[in-house]
Amino acid sequence: MLTNGLEKWLGLSRTQEEFRENAFVFASLTVLSAVLTLFVYYNTIFIPNLLLASIEAVGLVLCCFAYYWLWQSRNVKVAATIMVSVMTAVSLLFIVGSGHSEFALAFSFLTPVVAIFVLGYRVGALFSLLNFAVIAYVCLIDMHNWPPIPFDTISFIHLSIVYLFLFAIAYFYDSGRRKTLALLKESNRKLQALSHTDMLTQLYNRRHMEAILAEPQEVQWIAIIDIDDFKKINDDYGHEVGDQVLTQTARILESKVGTNGKVGRWGGEEFLIIYQTPDYDVVEVSLKAIHASLATHDFGINRPVTISCGVSVHNESVKADSFRKADEALYQAKHSGKNCYRLAVES
Ligand code: GH3
Ligand code: MG
Ligand code: MG
Repeated sequence: MLTNGLEKWLGLSRTQEEFRENAFVFASLTVLSAVLTLFVYYNTIFIPNLLLASIEAVGLVLCCFAYYWLWQSRNVKVAATIMVSVMTAVSLLFIVGSGHSEFALAFSFLTPVVAIFVLGYRVGALFSLLNFAVIAYVCLIDMHNWPPIPFDTISFIHLSIVYLFLFAIAYFYDSGRRKTLALLKESNRKLQALSHTDMLTQLYNRRHMEAILAEPQEVQWIAIIDIDDFKKINDDYGHEVGDQVLTQTARILESKVGTNGKVGRWGGEEFLIIYQTPDYDVVEVSLKAIHASLATHDFGINRPVTISCGVSVHNESVKADSFRKADEALYQAKHSGKNCYRLAVES
């Protein structure tokens, strides 16, 4: 509900990366404005102090500007810079005015953490350095005049404000970091999958198949498959229909190989099947099933789509030339009139 309103107001969806940063600056501005309003009220009604009340009122006006930047100009960096400047200036003025009374010094801890979180480590470090220089100056000049001061309710409120801010930053920081890491992991996973997938057929690509071939214990038989007279399909029905034939052939190959192996697109209208079963009968049954399925499949063209196939054993001893042998067997299949498979002879 709250997030929905904020999404609208910021003009950002929560899935966008900038949303978190914007939301944090918005939340910080809101806490800062609330604290300043409280202080203006306190310094005009309870303990009147015109100078402090005016400074706090100026801070409030600047916060309104920051809201405006966030809302109208959608410039989170400007809004964050105003917010950190107001926060630093107000806390420093408070420290200068109160010394160590009411736990005022605790406010100096906010600037380094908030500034680095919202403005980045360079600008944040600059703010921290300036902040520390002023605090060190005030402390070193005035410290010996500071009387002992009791810890009272207002000190507790100050301490709680600082605590809340630091807690919120730590929370935002870690939840943001975890979300970013999860996104990064997911996009890495997608990229990894993409780099191993053939875009047209969604089969494994050649790179992936080559990687499997390099693991001899994974491979028992290989079958190179080439669609017969595919050029004619392209020429007669167009490239798009050719693409559909490739995609549908890929599905048939996948379904008929099943868990017995892996199917990849080797290039053009050629596919490679890596069988992981030692049993040649299983290979033969699957190749026959592929031929039968292609023969009955309706490709939407009034011409049969057939394949030729060369099969070779692929074990440690013949690994180096199993591919050449399968290719030779494919060549024989083509020369025997196509639409058939041939097993490479063992030598
Ligand atoms: P053969 O029976 O001897 O294998 O003849 P073929 O026509 O199938 O073989 P050829 O090598 O002459 O032609 C293959 C054609 O495949 C040529 C090329 O334009 C086409 N091709 C390659 N990749 C794609 C693709 O991604 N989509 C489409 N539609 N066609 C492709
Ligand atoms: Mg070919
Ligand atoms: Mg061909």
